[in-house]
Amino acid sequence: MSEQNHPMTVGGKDVHTVDTFGVHNPATGRVFAQAPDCSPAQLDDAVQAAADAFPLWRDDMDARRSALLAAAARIEESAEELVTLLTLEQGKPLADARFEVMVTAMTLRGTAALDVPREVIRDDEERIEVLHQPMGVVAAITPWNVPLIQAAMKFAPALLAGNTVVLKPSPFTPLSSLALGVVLRDVLPPGVLNVISGRDPLGAQLAEHPLVRKVTFTGSVATGKHVAASAAPDLKRITLELGGNDAGILLDDVDLDAMAEKLFWGAFVNCGQICAAMKRLYVPRARYTEVVDALADRARSVQVGDGMLPGVQMGPLATAPQFARVQELVSDALAGGATAAAGGRRLDGDGYFFAPTILRDLEDGVRVVDEEQFGPVLPVIPYDDVEEAVARANGTHFGLDGSVWSADPERAAAVAARLECGTSWVNTHGMPAPGVSFSGHKWSGLGVANGLAGLLSYTETKVLHVVRGR
Ligand code: NAD
Repeated sequence: MSEQNHPMTVGGKDVHTVDTFGVHNPATGRVFAQAPDCSPAQLDDAVQAAADAFPLWRDDMDARRSALLAAAARIEESAEELVTLLTLEQGKPLADARFEVMVTAMTLRGTAALDVPREVIRDDEERIEVLHQPMGVVAAITPWNVPLIQAAMKFAPALLAGNTVVLKPSPFTPLSSLALGVVLRDVLPPGVLNVISGRDPLGAQLAEHPLVRKVTFTGSVATGKHVAASAAPDLKRITLELGGNDAGILLDDVDLDAMAEKLFWGAFVNCGQICAAMKRLYVPRARYTEVVDALADRARSVQVGDGMLPGVQMGPLATAPQFARVQELVSDALAGGATAAAGGRRLDGDGYFFAPTILRDLEDGVRVVDEEQFGPVLPVIPYDDVEEAVARANGTHFGLDGSVWSADPERAAAVAARLECGTSWVNTHGMPAPGVSFSGHKWSGLGVANGLAGLLSYTETKVLHVVRGR
């Protein structure tokens, strides 16, 4: 057995694997740890452990609620260990990793405050009730951008609803989720939350496993379509949270001094690697240069570096393929006539560092505008009238979020309401409110996360119809 200090959690116990794979620190580009590479037999064990834990777990809502609250407290107690692993494997600055761990605990608490409703339709000579019952084993598959928040958004509602879970993080960022599995062992009964890791095709094997009744997946559109197709033969339930190409639209009256900072971070938060980050910005032609300059000033002033170092505001891209993709999209735009008002190039040294980039002099039809770049690059595109900007924002298969910016919030709200996406913001971008539904329209997803709708998505609806007397 290879040496591993990051065991999987199956049935509440350490599980080691014969094979391992290297986890890279994106700030150095070098492997700094080995993660377990789960075998097919160990995957069976994990799913079986979840199935075995289900009958006891499903019946006691109060116990589940208490366990989630205890889990939130354990996460806070273990914050520094989780924060360090997050920064080392994902690249985000320590302050951002701390924020992620805090939001993870908040997600558990917010979920624990929800109730699975029990609706009595009638109660006289007949009683008709609508119940929402757990499904069984839920497979939770997460991406590498915010691994702990993504995990919590899935396992917290799945567990509260009475299901048991097998969590599989991205092979790029497995360590923080594996550590979470260890940290939560003394507050969750064995088998209720199992955490496994491995190179793909582990994700597909888990999603297709015959004992899994629901797959909750966050990741790219392409993989999401595979998950949907693989769920079909068994009619597994699915929730898909997929990619986005969020548009921001500035109206002509926007107060740039007041908004520039928020606009900038709406696109560059987490080095641009957030599904709900602004990925393209439409600006009235009369204000184009002013807006580009304000954003470029901020891009140049950002402290980019190893997230472990104090004062760093933006880390590297999280993975080598993502780093290559961002370089490719920016090179393509520059070759096609766009100008980098700031950045436009990788930074010297090891690691996946890319200069925060503002691109100007480009239109729809350029790849970095039409595709999801998922990196520290914002294309700024001029428009002539608002109708045209709305049409361009909507003219895509994506439909995750969008934002409209104006000195008159109600005027902006009227425009924002017409964006074809799951969330439309006014004068902000990418700050989902706790407990509020989050969903993608069109190719950005299927189903709803968070809030009551998210909780109910981990249940089957059942009618209990009792005829009293004859
Ligand atoms: P990805 O699709 O490559 O991988 C996501 C996960 O799926 C990983 O754990 C991977 O191992 C697993 N996987 C791979 N093939 C699979 C298969 N056939 N069946 C089941 N699982 C499989 O995505 P990524 O590169 O890790 O993440 C980036 C993408 O995630 C971006 O497109 C981003 O927009 C999206 N994202 C969406 C949201 C949202 O809430 N809508 C949030 C964060 C990220």
